Amino acid sequence: MKKTVAVAGAGAGGLMAAAGAASQGAQVLLFDQNDRIGRKLSATGNGKGNIANCRMEELCYRSEEPEELSRIYRGIDRDEVLQLLEDRGIVLHARQGYIYPRTDLAATVTEGLGQWIAERGTELHLREAVTNAQITASGFLIRTGTGAEYRADALILATGGMAGPQFGCDGSGYQIARSLGHRCTALRPSLTALKTEDPVLRFAAGVRCLSKVRLVIGKQGDAAEATMSEEYGEVQFGKESISGIPVFQLSSEAGRALTQGEPVRLILDLLPEFDRNSGSPFSGRKDAELVGGTWEQEWDRRMQDARNISIAEWLNGLTVPKLAAMIAARSGLTAENKIRKLTREQRAMLLAQLRHFEIAVAGTGAYRDAQVTAGGIRLSEIAGPFASVLCPGLYFAGEILDIEGMCGGYNLTFAMSSGWSVGRAAASAGAAGSVRN
Ligand SMILES: Cc1cc2nc3c(=O)[nH]c(=O)nc-3n(C[C@H](O)[C@H](O)[C@H](O)COP(=O)(O)OP(=O)(O)OC[C@H]3O[C@@H](n4cnc5c(N)ncnc54)[C@H](O)[C@@H]3O)c2cc1C
Repeated sequence: MKKTVAVAGAGAGGLMAAAGAASQGAQVLLFDQNDRIGRKLSATGNGKGNIANCRMEELCYRSEEPEELSRIYRGIDRDEVLQLLEDRGIVLHARQGYIYPRTDLAATVTEGLGQWIAERGTELHLREAVTNAQITASGFLIRTGTGAEYRADALILATGGMAGPQFGCDGSGYQIARSLGHRCTALRPSLTALKTEDPVLRFAAGVRCLSKVRLVIGKQGDAAEATMSEEYGEVQFGKESISGIPVFQLSSEAGRALTQGEPVRLILDLLPEFDRNSGSPFSGRKDAELVGGTWEQEWDRRMQDARNISIAEWLNGLTVPKLAAMIAARSGLTAENKIRKLTREQRAMLLAQLRHFEIAVAGTGAYRDAQVTAGGIRLSEIAGPFASVLCPGLYFAGEILDIEGMCGGYNLTFAMSSGWSVGRAAASAGAAGSVRN
């Protein structure tokens, strides 16, 4: 008999789950509380949809249960996802290792998946939130916000996390999972900006610059103080926050440490291009090849400069005026102070700040500004292709699970791959038909 599979959430994971279940001949009921499918998917990658990455390693994913990660990672099949999209006519291309649809429009993927599920006869229920699910003798009894009830042999929760509430993600899937016996690890916003109360940042508000960013956790000077990770790329300064891909990549670890009450600092090297020439360990970047001379030569040249010029003029050519103002302020000076009047130590301090600029982190951005949720349904309660070990017939796909990818396409890859795999698994199990009550 034809199996009925209900899918809650028509995002990247839910759409793939619906396609997977339909491909196995199941009758599919797909619910979303939004008025259209894939709202978040269409907004990803600044609207371009960075769906995958050329580099694919277990290290690109994190979980609050790291001991479970290898098992789950083995279930992610990026190449299968890319092939499925290309089979649907969605041509892909890669730029600097990041994979996008050829159109550079995330909506292309949403549209393609929408056509696919429509052709397969999926019953789409938009503006209809799944509010409750119960196990009965004949499968799941599913209730929605419209007051309707549905029966299904299998239920796939693909409701995302808490990140991006403006796209319909309110965490309601966690409640449904909890009511069916599951537990969640601690949740927090991730791939997001980091907030600071450091007043000098306002001088640099609006600046974007290439930096190396180090995340340091623990009290300064304590034995337990440790550099956790380091990232390279373009950072963006805000009045009370710092963002950009390198900061997003560090935000998960920073958020975890902050929730544990640990002091968190970022240390920025605002001139990482000099590393290659000065023999530092952070070498070999193509960008660095443009810089002539070593940092030591540059340092000596500036230190010997005796012209009657301001700090802003003295740093001109090394950095933009707003960053010069921020560095001067951190040193208790202003960008207008004359270089000649500074002590040798003050000059040295200004130059040193360019390579070692510390920012105390006060918090992470809100869910509204976060790309993903760190934490989710415990991986230890998941077996096989993302199936519940506690509730037969219940499956999970995407961000609702406690697995978080780095920036770079990993979260969409996971959502789509887990969706495809649970859709097929759910359609191959279960027993009863679907009745709309
Ligand atoms: C601005 C932004 C940019 C991003 N860019 C990228 C990127 O370029 N590359 C990348 O890999 N990742 C990116 N991400 C992360 C990525 O979009 C998500 O991790 C991914 O979409 C998760 O897919 P999902 O299907 O699990 O959940 P979602 O895509 O969040 O979909 C969940 C759906 O479930 C619906 N829903 C929730 N509760 C219910 C309910 N009770 N009943 C019915 N429906 C419900 C929601 O309305 C939503 O449509 C970005 C995220 C954001 C916010």
